[in-house]
Amino acid sequence: MNKRIYLSPPHMSGEEKKYINEAFDSNWIAPIGPNVDEFENAICDYTGSRNCAALSSGTAAIHLALILLGVEQGDEVIASTFTFAATINPIIYQKATPVLVESEPESWNLSPKFLEEAICDRIAAGKKPRAIIFVHIYGMPGKMEDILFIARKYDIPLIEDASEAFGSKYKGEMLGTFGDLGVYSFNGNKIITTSGGGALVSNNKDWIDRAIHLATQARDEAPYYQHTEVGYNYRLSNVLAGIGRGQMQVIEERVSKRRTVNQFYRKHLDSLPGVQFFSEPTSEYFSNHWLTALIIDSEQSNGVTVESVRAKLAEHNIEARPFWKPMHLQPVFDSYPYYGDGFSERLFEEGLCLPSGSSLSEGDQLRIVGIVKELFLSK
Ligand SMILES: *Cc1c(COP(=O)(O)O)cnc(C)c1O
Repeated sequence: MNKRIYLSPPHMSGEEKKYINEAFDSNWIAPIGPNVDEFENAICDYTGSRNCAALSSGTAAIHLALILLGVEQGDEVIASTFTFAATINPIIYQKATPVLVESEPESWNLSPKFLEEAICDRIAAGKKPRAIIFVHIYGMPGKMEDILFIARKYDIPLIEDASEAFGSKYKGEMLGTFGDLGVYSFNGNKIITTSGGGALVSNNKDWIDRAIHLATQARDEAPYYQHTEVGYNYRLSNVLAGIGRGQMQVIEERVSKRRTVNQFYRKHLDSLPGVQFFSEPTSEYFSNHWLTALIIDSEQSNGVTVESVRAKLAEHNIEARPFWKPMHLQPVFDSYPYYGDGFSERLFEEGLCLPSGSSLSEGDQLRIVGIVKELFLSK
């Protein structure tokens, strides 16, 4: 059996251990220390955001973003339905109601049309949404101008869930910096990783200061332990931030390699019948191509389905994955309001993500395209 090829495995630069050793040598084995500070500085330098809080996960970052915006019990929060559950769970932590909104067919991200429809309908029903969580799926930017225009028109704060889109840009600006607050994830499967971790960024310094306060148990300034509000234990460990510092040294290479992997698949598989790659709509969109995603229209593919491709690759010990199952179809969320035309349901039925790691060798990639081509030829 060949060595397993994973969808998106961690890819260390070699520099991480230096910073981990520094943490051990200085005994900063804590959720505070020089690696945390320097990792935050590196994220600000790279993204152009003014302030950053390094946190224990992207989920924690979304949760704190909602708290900063005052989301509480009974409030409504609009969110992309085509996403991973971590976008929605923090809305429930706040005992608020998610209002799930469909994607549009160009960027596969939140549809401006359904967004405005949802906002107007909720306002008409007597409840203005407290926030919008916009997801950049698989690293692809959304229609930022239209979305920002609508968010401002109705004066609703925008949280960008750029968990999958670290290093992606829209019109040359880094994703995560368009909204009032931006979220990144450094989970083990993301484009760079701290094993588990995340970050919240904003140009509003007060918000980020308050996020750090809340993330460290909301301890008041006093020689004894005093608390005037409920806090969380959400800060990133200084040991793990050392991994992040090592990863930040190679972020440009990682983005460039994921894009090369994407181009390679495209070159070899784009002409197969019924295959359509998830693509940047115009040159204004720059995706980190965290995962290479494609859809197979089984009416044109001579009977090849995404499931048959996934199963064939699995036989060869290669991990490919179906798309995120939309949130409005999830048993846990399907009772919440949904606005859309079912577009992401079709994506879910027809979509597949191919192994996209930055450590994927050209030999392995050739093997993958060979297996997929053979399946199409055999039909
Ligand atoms: C990974 C991910 C998150 C959350 O990240 P964690 O760091 O694992 O908590 C949130 N939203 C999306 C879309 C993600 O893919």
